[in-house]
Amino acid sequence: MLDAAQHAARSLAGQVRATTLRYTGSDAEPDAHRRHRAVSELLGTGLIDLVIEPSAVDDPTRLFCTALETIALHSVELAEAVQVQAFSVRTIRRHATAALWAELGEGLRSGAVPIANCLSEPAAGSDLSAIELAATRDGPCFRLSGYKDWAAYASQAGELIVYARTSAAGLGGITAFLVPADSPGVTISPAAEQLRGLSIPVSDIAFDDVLVPAHRVLGRPNRGVRVATILLTQGRLGLAACALGLGNAAFERALEFARTRVRFGRPIIEHQGIGFALADMATGLQAGRQLLRHACEVFDHDPDGAVLACAQAKLFATDTAQRVTADAVQILGASAYLPDEPVETWMRQASLLQILQGTNQIQRRTIVARLGGSARPTRSDAAPDLPTTPFE
Ligand SMILES: Cc1cc2nc3c(=O)[nH]c(=O)nc-3n(C[C@H](O)[C@H](O)[C@H](O)COP(=O)(O)OP(=O)(O)OC[C@H]3O[C@@H](n4cnc5c(N)ncnc54)[C@H](O)[C@@H]3O)c2cc1C
Repeated sequence: MLDAAQHAARSLAGQVRATTLRYTGSDAEPDAHRRHRAVSELLGTGLIDLVIEPSAVDDPTRLFCTALETIALHSVELAEAVQVQAFSVRTIRRHATAALWAELGEGLRSGAVPIANCLSEPAAGSDLSAIELAATRDGPCFRLSGYKDWAAYASQAGELIVYARTSAAGLGGITAFLVPADSPGVTISPAAEQLRGLSIPVSDIAFDDVLVPAHRVLGRPNRGVRVATILLTQGRLGLAACALGLGNAAFERALEFARTRVRFGRPIIEHQGIGFALADMATGLQAGRQLLRHACEVFDHDPDGAVLACAQAKLFATDTAQRVTADAVQILGASAYLPDEPVETWMRQASLLQILQGTNQIQRRTIVARLGGSARPTRSDAAPDLPTTPFE
């Protein structure tokens, strides 16, 4: 007999699946507007409440990540877009003033106002202590000037979370701002929609003397790295879920193929080389799910103490997805490269998941730093309360 919470979880899962299948089942090519609508619908199923009002259930982050995995099984692009919006809203909820949240909260949580995160710059990818975009105080405002690149979803965004330099003190001199995307002086390049298989629209953004009221600072001045750390920690859970959904799609496709493809007189699954590969794929995905479940539990208990668990979950799940999708390509052989066959695209998508939200080398740095290692070259002495890099 299911209790009320289990009924609610089952109903949520059904709605998420139905909404996702409506998105993937449409004949029209996926485009930014359709994706935006689908993200809003998915957040409206109750997903955003799991992220914003987590006390309503015991294990909100696990439920959210399970839903993401379901979405990613059918469309990893859609799952990625959902997790970016949801976790960005949570970050704003946590770090904005009560007045700013009262003004913007409804539009953000419904997905009506998409959000883009602007950390990367030409000289600042993994090493955010190199951020140069400058914010200088001007009475009740700041003036922002500089350049960001690789900002996903910026071409549709209503709000930008922008990390800017407010003092010379390395990581301890970065402040997070919530900037209206239509502010005078903001120029967002048209989205480069197709990046070799993963349709995440990314833009460059120029900031030319953009006036931002001081009440739009998120968190404290010069402590933007704390905001980034929380955002990235959650994002790693989201990406792990995306990777496991994607990996599962590849595994299921390879399994189906191996059962029906006959070579040397029998289905290829009966050849040990293929059967063992499938066994390893299934085992890796199951291990990834357990690691993600553990990280979700740690996060729900203590978000600030979840950096290690989230890095491990992201590292393992995305590396596993990369291996599983590559194995799926190998199992399908030449068929993997037929026009209607998605597994080769999935393999490239999995590689991208290893790069987003801190590359997997950076996850390893994070992990070894938590183990007492010495990967700490970017710590700012001026900010001993900050992590060694925003990714750590
Ligand atoms: C589709 C897409 C969407 C994106 N969306 C966003 C977004 O919304 N917002 C945003 O701000 N950015 C975004 N990015 C940028 C992304 O976050 C960066 O690409 C990523 O952080 C890596 O930075 P980089 O490419 O500059 O690599 P680099 O920092 O130049 O690193 C190059 C290589 O060196 C390795 N490396 C660097 N430092 C070390 C070290 N200390 N130890 C070991 N290895 C190291 C890296 O792991 C990598 O393999 C996006 C990128 C893509 C492709």
